[in-house]
Amino acid sequence: MKIADVVLVEVEGEFEVEKPVNEERIAQPLDIYPEFGELGAGAPPRPGQKVPHKDVYLEVRTEEGVTGVFGPVDGPHAMILRSEMREFVVGRDPLAIEKLWDMLLRRNRHGRGGYYMMALSALDCALWDLKGKALGQPVYRLLGGPVQDPVPAYASMLGFSLEPEKLAARAREYKSKGYQAQKWFFRYGPGDGGEGAGRNVQMVSVVREAVGEDAALMFDAFNSWDVPYAVEIGRRIARFRPAWLEEPVPVDRTNALRTIRERTGIPIATGEHLYTRWQVRDLLEARCADVIQADPDWCGGISELVKIAAVCSAYDVPLCPHGHSLHAALHVAAACPRTVLPQVEFLVLHQKRKQRFMKGYLEPQVGAIRPPEAPGLGIEVDPEKVSARREIE
Ligand SMILES: [Mg+2]
Repeated sequence: MKIADVVLVEVEGEFEVEKPVNEERIAQPLDIYPEFGELGAGAPPRPGQKVPHKDVYLEVRTEEGVTGVFGPVDGPHAMILRSEMREFVVGRDPLAIEKLWDMLLRRNRHGRGGYYMMALSALDCALWDLKGKALGQPVYRLLGGPVQDPVPAYASMLGFSLEPEKLAARAREYKSKGYQAQKWFFRYGPGDGGEGAGRNVQMVSVVREAVGEDAALMFDAFNSWDVPYAVEIGRRIARFRPAWLEEPVPVDRTNALRTIRERTGIPIATGEHLYTRWQVRDLLEARCADVIQADPDWCGGISELVKIAAVCSAYDVPLCPHGHSLHAALHVAAACPRTVLPQVEFLVLHQKRKQRFMKGYLEPQVGAIRPPEAPGLGIEVDPEKVSARREIE
């Protein structure tokens, strides 16, 4: 087979809000500056409201007529796909994914992370979709699965209000849907003083009280804390037995992560902002993480996530891929033993928007999820949901 073109397709339509999205924002690194600490201007969209929505999908077209699709793809690395990678891959064999991946890494000496690696990730995922379609198999079968069927998913509660009564009601609601684990996001950080710290602790206490002793609870600080703050909050929430504390500080601060881990006794999860097997290996060598969260949309694609799973397995540290999107991580998860990859992340509010233009809706049933059976990844844009479509130059 030969690649004929690499095309970015922008699709446009409306997104009808079913549930409140972004009732509350999360703590963010910029919040140490007071001008960034407040909720952004404008009220969040209400249920029933229709808001305009656009997404970009990557298509790898072949001379044989098979097309690999992946998306939605974010803006900056979408442009790298078009400007840096398209010309190089046109005319080459799309089924030789490992060779293309290695050549694209070698030809850009700044490409070991960041937007270049995110672009390579999207291309890699589209090539796996293409390969699945060419061979008539879902990607998880090409990767050696099914190994676990279905795959446990945890409810990732980004965007919900943290007002105690609503918080408790949502935590109970998602537990009753069958989720064995939930992740909540801290709203406050070091810029918010003692009152913010108290509210962070209160959030953990309310959720634990709502779901009972047996459910697993995880908490994410989105890189927004520092060591003293993380140690203080960690010590105050330890009695609620968090399954992990996620990204209290950026992932490259391995000494800080180790200090937080040792002083709080809470397992540390991180790695959604790591790229490639080599960065994951270094993090594991630093003995500061208990859960690795590499994301196939960013870390180097499906090819690289499979290698990262092997590296994590060699260190006996579980891989729980970050849920920027779902399809790619799910196919890898379905092809890994549960001891290697115990669960995937399902963003209960944001997946509706991420899958807005796709045929069907991929979601967990009773806290576990199966990858699509269609050849490839099972990502198909539904023309019925699209009001306008254009190829980006
Ligand atoms: Mg996170």
